[in-house]
Amino acid sequence: MSHPPRRTIVVDGLGLANELRAALADEIAELRAAGRRAPCLAVVLVGDDPASASYIKGKRRACERVGMGSVEHKLAAALSEAAVIERVEALNQDETVDGILVQLPLPKGMRPNRVAAAVDPAKDVDGLHPLNAGRLLLGEPCLTPCTPLGILKLLERFEIPLAGAHAVVIGRSAIVGKPVSLLLQQANATVTMCHSRTRGLAEFCRSADVLVAAAGVPRLVRGDWVKPGAAVIDVGVSEVDGELVGDVDTESVMGIAALVTPHRRGVGPLTITMLLHNTLAAYRARCGE
Ligand code: NAD
Repeated sequence: MSHPPRRTIVVDGLGLANELRAALADEIAELRAAGRRAPCLAVVLVGDDPASASYIKGKRRACERVGMGSVEHKLAAALSEAAVIERVEALNQDETVDGILVQLPLPKGMRPNRVAAAVDPAKDVDGLHPLNAGRLLLGEPCLTPCTPLGILKLLERFEIPLAGAHAVVIGRSAIVGKPVSLLLQQANATVTMCHSRTRGLAEFCRSADVLVAAAGVPRLVRGDWVKPGAAVIDVGVSEVDGELVGDVDTESVMGIAALVTPHRRGVGPLTITMLLHNTLAAYRARCGE
């Protein structure tokens, strides 16, 4: 069906992230001015995956810029799962650490769920501990996975109506697809979750007012899958011929979607910002605030 072309907002995720980070920096400066220590994030990196090393560098820099402390624990890939859990447990006991993030993916043979379950739920800034995942399901306050939280912040900032809207989420992982579906439901959207075995994916997408693509399949979503006026959130990051590409073929949705996040400087900076947000929230909760 033909439709008049519309102006598509390409979201400046970095700009929004910087705005939110400035507010976090102010909060931390106030704590420091009151003579309190800064919140501190501990990042555990197992092995030497170059992408993971680059991600944790970005996280460290983001912490520095808002005045948050950060410590890195780099562990050899050859260590056993038990040894990694032992390190996590030591960080659980460390009073100077407020948030613990175990960088994924873990080396083969290690069970991410087992390691996530070892993190103190009060320091679980990735929101992957079963207690936090369960609380999210029950609609109770909890530490919530960062990317879904960032997506909801973005939708809120751009005043995308969610109540009664049809939201389609492609992907059902514990870190993106499932939690973002729950948050969208909590915001009163009607949510359809799609995945690799979904039949008729394109048809589902075409009826979405909000479309979240988190499959990790390069340029899976094209313009002819998008309902005119939809908000399209591209979460996926894949490497094709040495270049990073998203799950959305951005060019082809221009003039159709009302809003799209680019695969660079889109959702990524918000994910890191929500990590800072969660670490500050964990700090405050641990201080009984
Ligand atoms: P995952 O591999 O754990 O899950 C992918 C999901 O997509 C699965 O549920 C699978 O069923 C579904 N899927 C795969 N192929 C599909 C297809 N052809 N059609 C429909 N569904 C399909 O991945 P994840 O950890 O959820 O991450 C998803 C993507 O988002 C990855 O590219 C990842 O790199 C990226 N990511 C980006 C950020 C960010 O901050 N930008 C954060 C987390 C993940």
